[in-house]
Order: sequence, then structure tokens, then C-alpha cells
Amino acid sequence: MSGSQGLVKLPRNWNRLVRRVMRRCGRRCEWERAEFRVRCSREATMVVHAGKKDDHSVGNLLGLCTWHAAQKAQLEWEANRFVAIRVRPMRHESGEQQS
Ligand SMILES: [Zn+2]
Repeated sequence: MSGSQGLVKLPRNWNRLVRRVMRRCGRRCEWERAEFRVRCSREATMVVHAGKKDDHSVGNLLGLCTWHAAQKAQLEWEANRFVAIRVRPMRHESGEQQS
């Protein structure tokens, strides 16, 4: 099956990386490490990529609570959508709208 578009291939040692990230953050959400600078004290339940999805170094990984992992996913989704819209050539519609 090859219909996994958008999904990241996780490295073989992913579980170990997760454990290392969890140890680093003490199982606390690391959301503040991201550029958003918002503190969060919830329990980290997920490990996500802070930057590039194919960079699996621990420095690029964040332990996040479920809530912030969802937030991040949504932000990225919106960002991608934004890019997709911007890439499209703009059509000049000068007030002429016929439906
Ligand atoms: Zn959080």
C-alpha cells in the first residue's frame, strides 16, 4: 500500500528517540520550546517534529501533550493550505461577479 501521502516515515529507532525526548522533557509538554513561547504544564504524550519531518535528531523533536500536538498539526495543516493558495496564480476579478 502506498497511499500514505503526508505521513512521515519514522526511523527504526523511533521508540528510542521518543524515550529520549520524554526523558529530556520529564514527560512535560515542551510546547514552549517551539516558537510560540507558551508555557504548558500538561503531560507530554506525543513526540512530534519541531521542524523538518525527515530530521529525526532529538534536537528536532518535541514532547507535546495531546492538545498541543493537535494544535501543531492544525497549524501545519493551515500553513500548507496557505502555501497551496499562494502558489496558485491570482485571477483578477474586477467586481464582475456572475453566478
Ligand atoms: Zn501542551
